[in-house]
Amino acid sequence: MTHPTVDLRSDTVTRPTPAMLEAMFQAPVGDDVYGEDPTVRALEAETATRFGLEAGLFCPSGTMTNQVAIKAHTEPMSEVICEQTSHIYLWEVGGIAFHSGASVALLPGDRGRLTAAQVEAAIRPENVHYPITRLISLENTHNRGGGSCYALPELAALAEVAQRHRLPLHLDGARVFNALVATGQDSREYGRLFDTISVCLSKGLGAPVGSVLLGSAAYIEKCKRIRKVMGGGMRQAGYLAAAGLYALEHNVARLADDHRRARQLAEALAARPYVTEVLPVETNLVIFRLTDTMPAEHFLAYLEQHGIRASSFGPQLIRFVTHLDIDDAMLARVETALAELE
Ligand SMILES: *Cc1c(COP(=O)(O)O)cnc(C)c1O
Repeated sequence: MTHPTVDLRSDTVTRPTPAMLEAMFQAPVGDDVYGEDPTVRALEAETATRFGLEAGLFCPSGTMTNQVAIKAHTEPMSEVICEQTSHIYLWEVGGIAFHSGASVALLPGDRGRLTAAQVEAAIRPENVHYPITRLISLENTHNRGGGSCYALPELAALAEVAQRHRLPLHLDGARVFNALVATGQDSREYGRLFDTISVCLSKGLGAPVGSVLLGSAAYIEKCKRIRKVMGGGMRQAGYLAAAGLYALEHNVARLADDHRRARQLAEALAARPYVTEVLPVETNLVIFRLTDTMPAEHFLAYLEQHGIRASSFGPQLIRFVTHLDIDDAMLARVETALAELE
């Protein structure tokens, strides 16, 4: 008997379910560059409403929502404050420099999380030698930080600093629903704290494509032109937006299952002699370090032989990600494989 591959590389590897595909087939569509796709409009409005923000903009990827957002908030010779391992800096091809001609002030976070004091100290004083600080950007959950979540009081303190300095606060919320489900925080509170939010539908929510950028109506109008120059103006995109609407309706609460499975994996890993450290698991990401006697390539090849795939995340660092297409039977197979490796 052959088993399906257990793909723990990322929560982006999910495939649409028959029910999601059916919702896509049924979607009413139009030309969205003319603003005539009812399903795209419905997705943008629904996502914005959930976060208590005015408007949304559907884009093909989270990289695009982030980079459009940054371009709209900044200009050349200005600066973005962000964490040193943040996705917008590390994993978006240097897009801040390329698209926006802006600089970055990189701060070391606690598993990716910044404090209000750190951010305030990084805001540039008036001086002809400096770029002008134009944006503060946070990431929640934090990918490189192992899916860590901000506590609400810290977010409120960060928003207070941003408001006092009249700086917009952006959230890279690629996995914001994981954070909301794990902490029980209210999405509308995020709309009060953040000026703009990027939400991914193609991560834990299981849609095949798409992210939504949220903000004020005037801001989103400006972003529409930037999306167009980046080549992100799509036509009958309602077929894709329908998958996002389906995901918002059906796949948010179930993220708790992914979090439970991630904790279970972390416990199994912590008990293995070849694992030196497992980052605290708060959501669906499990980052762990192998001992020097267990080379990462060997570990990954062993898993591959057992039909299990994982990501290398740095020297001797491995990442497991739980998602919609990982069930308890697959988890048991991973646990067995881990236990049989010496
Ligand atoms: C995945 C991800 C993005 C966006 O990635 P795309 O692949 O471009 O959709 C942005 N931020 C974080 C933290 C991510 O994990």
